Amino acid sequence: MAPVPERPRPQRLFLDTPVTYLKGVGPARAEALRRLGIVTAGDLLYHVPHRYEDASTVAPISSLEPGMHGTVIGTVVSKGIIPTRKGLRIFQAVLRDDSGMIEVSWPGQPFLDRAITKGDVLLVTGNVRFFHGRQLQPREYVNLGDEASTTMGGRVLSVYPATEGLSFKQIRAIVDAHLDALLPLVVEYLPSDIVRAADVPDIATALRMVHRPATIAEAMRGRSRLAFEELFFVHILHQRAKELAREKRTGITFTNRRELTTRLRESLPFQLTGAQVRSVREIFADMCSDRRMQRLLQGDVGSGKTVVALFAALLAIENGYQAAIMAPTELLAEQHRESMTRLLAPLNIEPLLITGSVPSRERKAAAAKLATEEPVLVVGTHALVQEATQFANLGFAAIDEQHRFGVEQRKALAAKGTFPDVLLMSATPIPRSLALTLYGELDLSMLDERPPGRKPVTTGLRRESGRARVLQFVDRQIDLGRQGYIVYPVIEESEKTDLKAATTMFETLAGGAFAHRRLALLHGRIPSDERDEIMRRFRDREIDLLVATTVIEVGIDIPNATVMLIEHPERFGLSQLHQLRGRVGRGADESYCILLGDVSPEVAERLQIFVRTDDGFEIAREDLRMRGMGDLFGERQSGVPTFRIADPLRDEALSESARAAAEKLLARDPDLAKKENAPLRRVLGDRYAKSLELFRVG
Ligand code: ADP
Ligand code: MG
Repeated sequence: MAPVPERPRPQRLFLDTPVTYLKGVGPARAEALRRLGIVTAGDLLYHVPHRYEDASTVAPISSLEPGMHGTVIGTVVSKGIIPTRKGLRIFQAVLRDDSGMIEVSWPGQPFLDRAITKGDVLLVTGNVRFFHGRQLQPREYVNLGDEASTTMGGRVLSVYPATEGLSFKQIRAIVDAHLDALLPLVVEYLPSDIVRAADVPDIATALRMVHRPATIAEAMRGRSRLAFEELFFVHILHQRAKELAREKRTGITFTNRRELTTRLRESLPFQLTGAQVRSVREIFADMCSDRRMQRLLQGDVGSGKTVVALFAALLAIENGYQAAIMAPTELLAEQHRESMTRLLAPLNIEPLLITGSVPSRERKAAAAKLATEEPVLVVGTHALVQEATQFANLGFAAIDEQHRFGVEQRKALAAKGTFPDVLLMSATPIPRSLALTLYGELDLSMLDERPPGRKPVTTGLRRESGRARVLQFVDRQIDLGRQGYIVYPVIEESEKTDLKAATTMFETLAGGAFAHRRLALLHGRIPSDERDEIMRRFRDREIDLLVATTVIEVGIDIPNATVMLIEHPERFGLSQLHQLRGRVGRGADESYCILLGDVSPEVAERLQIFVRTDDGFEIAREDLRMRGMGDLFGERQSGVPTFRIADPLRDEALSESARAAAEKLLARDPDLAKKENAPLRRVLGDRYAKSLELFRVG
């Protein structure tokens, strides 16, 4: 019998040819590639290097001097793990090139012992210091494998995201082997006038540039095209979603009767800021139109978002509708109810409260009112979206501290009643252009102005050696009848870190420096009803000092708290510190925020930005610049788009032009139905599931 012929490789290569058909890719590699999201030959093209090393700057090892920054390529002649007295394990290797040898040291990375073997050729970039001889402290390294010499192809080395069983080098070899055959198959899918206006290369050129750049600058130019198209697609989807929502005209058309809202304005104990007036006007314009409001109100801590929401609620009520304001914690909901009760007293309106700890009789009475068509205002927690709460006539819903809620909860409130107008409120203000990229489906109002007369919180960074004096300072504030917070990054101590923890420090402080004070411990593992109880006692001044984790971050308002001490400030993002600081400085008294700890000079520099400025927008910007977006938006299902290549902050200008381009395209072809846009539509459909519902891509 004739042997079964091997499966023939197809003669011609297409972009949708499975990678298994590519030379150099067997089943094992195909599986590894799949883990990286690479299934077809075309996918391979879009697997873009995440960084580059510029070999044109490689220096001979012998030329490195302490104090210099340098890049070298050398062979590992010896290696090993060295333990230190403090329990830290250091991986060390000695590199040799034709000119000499140098020691390279990776503190705390013993696992590198498995990744690097004797004979490997490493490219290492870092600072040279003097430590028993010259030592290189790597900032980055690339393992070039066992290649005898520096066969780097070009002068710029592309480094690809790799995976177990498939090194970046192997990926590079596969890409390199097929690039010339694949590139001619790539057909531009963006309209040519848009590519031209954006001043980015066409797609085939860009892909060549990112995979096989002659210079770093060229790689960056290729990258700019891919980042542009990513931003462009996201803006198209945002704008389309917004347009469809608008078309539906499902919103309630309110009438600005100037009854309750005017009376509130006249009875307020303060004057609205210009930004508040502007935001109220923007919100009223939305509410008085026949389309549904989906608006984000951004404003720094203390910028006065609540009263803006209150005006919107009153507009709904004077039109005979119900209004709801949802907050992430019971305490915050109670606080809103209280402050609103005060502001609404002259109008004879009393807000209802629905939370888990409202007694069930009272809660049932509130629910019963909502079930009738009576136009009332209700404040509450997520209990508002539970089934037991039915609105007969919900016309307006506000969601405070919206980032604290998941997408689903936000949607659930908006789904109560028939298409209420929705206002989301956020105390982590981000720059407008960035907000337009991330929240492009929403309209934006910004409270970029503080109510007058508020004193900035005096902020300082103190070293460990000043601890006793700092604690005395806190104690004196309590002598003056004030209260304070002491914040720690973690709840409990652990072996892995040297961090002071809330639980242990609570014991230490309660038995030591603050033995004569009333202390309480507050953290996320305490059940939420107990947590609320502790906060209530703090509010009622039964507690002097709260020893806490970041659970106190959410917008509670306790004007008598004038001092906040934050330990291990290096563990917090600047925006988070800013949120924490927002808990003090809410009354008439001078307030203080003290960061305590011995931090590295780099960290100190970062923290100084926080010490210097009180402007949440500026702080958010710095935070994003230094720590990236993950930090600001956290793990939570925030609903903001994620980007593979673009960085919405660094690529701010690119995002602006991508947004304009998306607008232009949709203006001339709103459904992307024109023949010339078929390729674009196809790519959009391949990449974004959401486009399927927005464009019915078939
Ligand atoms: P946030 O935007 O952080 O939610 P709030 O709405 O809680 O801020 O307002 C903070 C405080 O400022 C509240 O006590 C509120 O009554 C007060 N406030 C709001 N607007 C003004 C204003 N225009 N002038 C003076 N005080 C104001
Ligand atoms: Mg608030």
